Amino acid sequence: MPEALDLVDIGVNLADDCFDADREAVITRAVEAGVGQMILTGTTEAESEAVLRLAEQYPGVCYATAGIHPHYAKDYAASSLKTLKSLCLQPAVCAVGETGLDFNRNFSLPEQQEQAFAAQIELAAELAMPLFVHERDAGQRVFEMLKHYRDHFPEAVVHCFTAEKRDLYRYLDLDLHIGITGWVCDERRGAHLIPLLSEIPPGRLMLETDAPYLMPRDLKPKPKTRRNEPVNLVHICQRIAAHLNIAPQQLAAQTSANARRFFSLPGIQDANV
Ligand SMILES: [Zn+2]
Repeated sequence: MPEALDLVDIGVNLADDCFDADREAVITRAVEAGVGQMILTGTTEAESEAVLRLAEQYPGVCYATAGIHPHYAKDYAASSLKTLKSLCLQPAVCAVGETGLDFNRNFSLPEQQEQAFAAQIELAAELAMPLFVHERDAGQRVFEMLKHYRDHFPEAVVHCFTAEKRDLYRYLDLDLHIGITGWVCDERRGAHLIPLLSEIPPGRLMLETDAPYLMPRDLKPKPKTRRNEPVNLVHICQRIAAHLNIAPQQLAAQTSANARRFFSLPGIQDANV
């Protein structure tokens, strides 16, 4: 029997109310399948508090980020920074974010997004914490802003990378990490990512589901729900490993080691599962 996978899902929106009825079961399913640790994404002040509470309920398994997503940058106020900072000082919070720029839908004005992003980069620099970055149709500005501050913040991951080779190389030039989701399993819009996978240095790659979003489109049998779950990271790992022509165990070990180093997580053998 092949050795079990040891995976870290670096992007789970576990505070989403679609998980209210069975959150415990979702976590158990993931852990039993080998997804032993997960980073819960905070996208607003309230959600950052909610994911911290969840992380505190599942020590050693769940960790949290604290940040304001570009969609909600219009809610960013002077008091936000104080709130985020106090959250970031909690031991279960392991990154600043989700922050970044999203010019695809512009739910907040670009200038509001840039203001909130700059403040969160500065917070990461001040606290010497890694950044969890979202970028959609804003590669040029995200690159410019991260470059401007690059000597000041320790690490950043561009999560759910879906852009082009030029963007990938710009991020790698800044020595950033790259998060890959089940987008790569989507034959309609993810095919361009497949040849890029081998361009990502093994030490820079991390895996994520972005659950409940981005259900892998090639799951068999086809799920009855569109709600993605961290357990599906196993499938995503298998697909990416096949594209890279390596064993899933090897990809899991490498990307989990990256995630544990990046987010300063304990190894799974130390975790209270
Ligand atoms: Zn995102």
